[in-house]
Amino acid sequence: MEQEKLIELDKKHFIHPTSSIQQQQKDGAKMIVEKGDGIYLTDRNDNVYIDAMSSLWNVNVGHGREELAEAAAEQMKKLAFSSTFSTFSHEPAILLAEKISSLAPEGLNAVFFTSGGSESNDTAIKLARHYWRVQDKPERRKIIGINRAYHGVAAASTSATGIPEFWNMAGKMMTDIYHADNPYGIGKDKALSSLRSVIETEGPETVAAFIAEPIQGAGGVLVPPENYLQEVRNLCDEYGILYIADEVITGFGRTGKWFGVENYGVTPDIISFAKGVTSGYIQLGGVIVSDQIHDVLKEKSAGTLFHGYTYSGHPTATAVGLKNIEIMENEGLLENAQKMGEVMLKGFKKLKEELDIVGDVRAVGLLGAVELVEDPATNKRFASDLQVAPKVIEALHQRGVICRAVTYEGTDIICFCPPLIINEQQIETMIERLHDAIKEVRKELSAVLK
Ligand code: PMP
Repeated sequence: MEQEKLIELDKKHFIHPTSSIQQQQKDGAKMIVEKGDGIYLTDRNDNVYIDAMSSLWNVNVGHGREELAEAAAEQMKKLAFSSTFSTFSHEPAILLAEKISSLAPEGLNAVFFTSGGSESNDTAIKLARHYWRVQDKPERRKIIGINRAYHGVAAASTSATGIPEFWNMAGKMMTDIYHADNPYGIGKDKALSSLRSVIETEGPETVAAFIAEPIQGAGGVLVPPENYLQEVRNLCDEYGILYIADEVITGFGRTGKWFGVENYGVTPDIISFAKGVTSGYIQLGGVIVSDQIHDVLKEKSAGTLFHGYTYSGHPTATAVGLKNIEIMENEGLLENAQKMGEVMLKGFKKLKEELDIVGDVRAVGLLGAVELVEDPATNKRFASDLQVAPKVIEALHQRGVICRAVTYEGTDIICFCPPLIINEQQIETMIERLHDAIKEVRKELSAVLK
C-alpha cells in the first residue's frame, strides 16, 4: 500500500502505545518500518537505521533470525496453542521452565509464565502477597518500589512504577504501594536511609515486598552505586521482606550475564522477566521464584491458584524462547555483550573528553547511557524547554541511528541498548554518529548558552 495511504489509515484507526495522540494526528507516523536484519531496521523508503535500542530493549539476538521463525512455524504446525491451566502441560513450556531455572541464580527454580513484563510484575506482586496470606500474614500486603522505576502498565505494575507521569493517565491503580528515593543523584546512603524510613513509617510487619530493576532502564539507565543492592538485600532480610528483581530489560544477556543481579552478587526471592527471553520475536514473560517461596506454596497454597493468563506458557512462545536461548549460548552472545559493552563505554568516555556538554557516561554490558548537561563540572542541567536530548535523538535519527531520550525530572539522557550481536566497527559507527549529532545540537545551543 502507498505510504501516504498507510499514514492516513494509521491516524484514523491506530491508537499507538506510549505516544502523543495529538502529535500523531498532526504529524502522522514518522517511520513505517519495513524490515529488520541484524542490528539494522529499514523503512519503506529504504533508509537503513542502526537499531541502537534493540527496538524496545528486547531484540537481543538481532533482527531477521530465520531459526526463530522456523522454531515458531514448526511448533505452530504441531501444536500452535494449548492451555497450561490446571494439570494440562506441554513439552516446550516444561523445557523452557527447566532451562530458565538452570540459568537463574542459585535457589530460584520454578517459573510462572506470562505474556510480557507488565503481567510479570503484576504476577510477582500478587505472588508475594499470596505467599504471606497462605502463611496467615495477610497484613503483609504493602509493596515498596523506588523513584524512576519502570515496571509496566498493568494495575500493580503501573502503581509500582516510580515515574508519576504513568499514574496521571488514570490514577494509581493499586493502593498500598509506596516509593523510596533511588540512589541516582543522591548516592547509596541517602537512598538506603529513605528505604529504611519508608519501611519503618509503614510498619515492616505490613510490607510484603520490595521491587526494583537491578539497573533502572526506562528511568535513564541508572546504574546502582557499589553495594547498594547488597545493602537493599540486607535491609529486606532484616525486616523479613521479599525482594523482587525486575529483570525485564536486564535479563537474558543484556548486561553480559544471564541476569543483571549477577553483576552485584545478590540473590532476589523473585525475578520477573520478559523481552530478551524471546528477543521480542513473540510475546513471553514470567517470574522465577525461590525454592523457599515454592516450598511454602507447595505446602500451603491450598486449592486453585486463581491467577493465570490464557497465554501463560504458550507453546509457540516457549518454543521460540528455547531456540532464542540456544542461539545466545551457541554464539557466545553474553561474552560478546561484555566485550562490546567495554568498547561502547570506551567510546562514550572519549565523547566526554571531546564534547563539553557530555556529563556522566555509563554502561554495564550493552546497556548504557550518555547524559547531557550544561556544565559537566557541576552537573548543572539544561533548562527543559531547550529539549536537548530530544534534539539529539532527532539528529541521530537523521544520521541513521534509532535511540531513546529520557527527560524525566529535567534530565537529558540518551540511552543505548543495541542487539547483543553488535560488532566493534558497528559500535564505532554508532558513536561517530552520536558525536556528530551532539556537536550539531551543541552548535545550536551556543546562541542561548553564555
Ligand atoms: N519492567 C521493565 C524494567 C521494563 O523495562 C518494561 C518494559 N519496558 C516492563 C517491565 C513492562 O514490560 P511490557 O511492556 O512487556 O509489559
